[in-house]
Parts: sequence; structure tokens; C-alpha cells
Amino acid sequence: MQNIHDECAACTRCKLCQTRKHVVPGSGSPTAQVVFIGEGPGAQEDAKGLPFVGASGKFLDEMLGSIGLKRDDVFIANVVKCRPPNNRDPEKEEILACMPFLQRQIKVIAPKIIVTLGRFSMQLFLPDAKISQIHGKVQKVGEFVILPLFHPAAALFNGSMRGVLKDDFLVLGKLLSGEMNLD
Ligand code: URA
Repeated sequence: MQNIHDECAACTRCKLCQTRKHVVPGSGSPTAQVVFIGEGPGAQEDAKGLPFVGASGKFLDEMLGSIGLKRDDVFIANVVKCRPPNNRDPEKEEILACMPFLQRQIKVIAPKIIVTLGRFSMQLFLPDAKISQIHGKVQKVGEFVILPLFHPAAALFNGSMRGVLKDDFLVLGKLLSGEMNLD
């Protein structure tokens, strides 16, 4: 994992390297059962080099806590590892340029479950899916078990979305406890 992160730090595969302060390769346990994939770093993540350290991260921590998990129990990564300027959406070339890093991280960790946070990370695995239709529903994609969730940022300004995300998170708790079957 360290090699991957060192390579990320030196990466110039797309133009985001010109505006980043820090690369945000991801953080957490390299032997985690669960990998979360967000969209891309925001201003605070770019400043610190760590994923989900802003307001969305606080909500993510709260949801992890609701099912008895801490950040160190999981691994948190993003579709793109450098901040898109002004938090714009990541572009297709940026996503493609960054994808090998995420693929290698997933291979090293070999998680039981991949939780996608938001549309962009869901589309890596389920390009034609609609998040409004499949959020909180386990999807099998080849060898991967995917749980698509809304992005925690969506819940910050929308109270009802908060409840939806919290409920969907309980599905993850059930998968991990064995109360819900993985296949
Ligand atoms: N939003 C994301 O998608 N990723 C982060 O790391 C922070 C906010």
C-alpha cells in the first residue's frame, strides 16, 4: 500500500496535479473488510492529505459509529486522488487516469464489501445504474460485492437524505454481522 501511496504522491497523470496541495490516496486499514469510495478530495482534504476530514467526513464517522465501526477498521478512498478545482465534478480523463491506483488498492485490501459513496464511485462498477433506484441494495459485480450509498454530502443540506443514508448504513452493519447474506 505504501508503494501505491508513494506513486500517487508523485503522480502527474492528469492536470489535477497542477492545482493540488496534497494528494489524498486514502486512509485506513490495509486489511479492512470494507472499502469506502468517495468522489474526490475537497478543500480540507487537499490541505491535509486525508480523505473525508470535512463536514461530510464528520457525518461518515457518525454513521460508522452507528454500526460499531471506527475509521481505522475500514479503508476510505476516492475516485480521484487530487482535488478538482472549486470542487467541480471529476472529468472522465481524470477518473480514467486515476483508476489504476484504486484498482491496486482494492486488490491489496481484497475487501468483502465495497461501499460506493455517490454517483461517481457507483458508476465505476455500475455505469448504467441510477443511484436513486439502487441505493442501500447489495449489488454483485463480478467478484465484487457493492453497496451503493448516497454521498454523505447530499445529507448535509437535506434532512430526509440523512435518514435514508443512516438506514442504508444499517444494511452494511447487517452484512458484516452475518445477519444479511453476502450472496
Ligand atoms: N468528499 C469526497 O467525496 N471525498 C472526500 O475525501 C471528501 C469529501
